[in-house]
Amino acid sequence: MPQKNKLVSIVISAYNEENNVTELHKQLRKNLDYLNSVDFEFIYVDDGSSDKTYENCMALQKKDERVKIVQLKRNFGHEIAMTAGMDYAKGDAVIFMDADLQHPPVYIPQMIELWQQGKEIVLTKRLDNKDTSGLYKLCAKTFYWLLNKLSDTKIMESAPDFRLLDRKYVDFLKGFNEQDRLFRGLLSWILPQENVAYIDFVAPQRFSGESKYNFAKSLRLAINSILQFSVMPLRIATYLGLITAFMAVVLGLYVFVEHFFLHNPTPGYATIMVSVMFLGAVQLICLGIIGEYIGKIHIEVKKRPLYMADYVAAKGKKRDKKDI
Ligand code: UDP
Ligand code: MG
Repeated sequence: MPQKNKLVSIVISAYNEENNVTELHKQLRKNLDYLNSVDFEFIYVDDGSSDKTYENCMALQKKDERVKIVQLKRNFGHEIAMTAGMDYAKGDAVIFMDADLQHPPVYIPQMIELWQQGKEIVLTKRLDNKDTSGLYKLCAKTFYWLLNKLSDTKIMESAPDFRLLDRKYVDFLKGFNEQDRLFRGLLSWILPQENVAYIDFVAPQRFSGESKYNFAKSLRLAINSILQFSVMPLRIATYLGLITAFMAVVLGLYVFVEHFFLHNPTPGYATIMVSVMFLGAVQLICLGIIGEYIGKIHIEVKKRPLYMADYVAAKGKKRDKKDI
């Protein structure tokens, strides 16, 4: 009996990508249809789009029954969209990619070949991103530098969400239940010493539309990532407290000597105001840091489902899958 081909799932997260999904699928087929050593399923995760992304994916499914659609009931964000796709993927290997063609399908055959040769994780390294400005790149560089200084888990810079994972690691990642998740961070946490391959690529400009990450959203993601992978800010709060306490003692000694030994009482108002404001600011910063962590605990302890979605497989078969 001929051996059954292994299945590769391609998980594509799409939020308002109506003009990209059709072209992406065309390019996927162009690059993958000639591979006959594996079978494919294409899981398009519609992350609560308000445009015609879902309808366009349905149209793709009508022509290609390997297309599956995970329709999230609202916009849950890129990390959750990838999680949802991963939950529904049945493949022996899962490839994650963006819908905007910044992750060129032309690299997928190489990923699969490396997997077939025994690599269990194939990561990509983005040499350049034609869609971002110099300032954005500088901010990203600073963020990764800071994150890696603060965190024990080293997170690779320029490692986009374009990767292949063997089923073994997909199942392992499914064990992470946190709401607030950064895939590349989780992956760095589990990254083995061997059986990992890297592919270099240059990300072209988006095919259509604009990046969904504006500056505020990127900053929020950066702060969240630091909070997820490090408790160092809390320690910094303690250090700040210690440093200001030390400064207060030095100032106290100075005033004491001036007053009792040099008989030169320090005029107080300005000094007091500055000290009070400085201490107030330090206390508020520390409270803010603690508050950020308490907020995270508050969200995580509720253990809410990560998302709510419909899964649409070919021939209009539709089954609800909630509360994953
Ligand atoms: N995306 C998503 N949900 C979101 C934001 C983005 O599924 O809330 C998808 C988006 O459609 C794209 C991918 O995540 O396929 C990466 O987003 P984008 O291209 O905007 O990010 P950038 O490449 O600029 O970092
Ligand atoms: Mg993009």
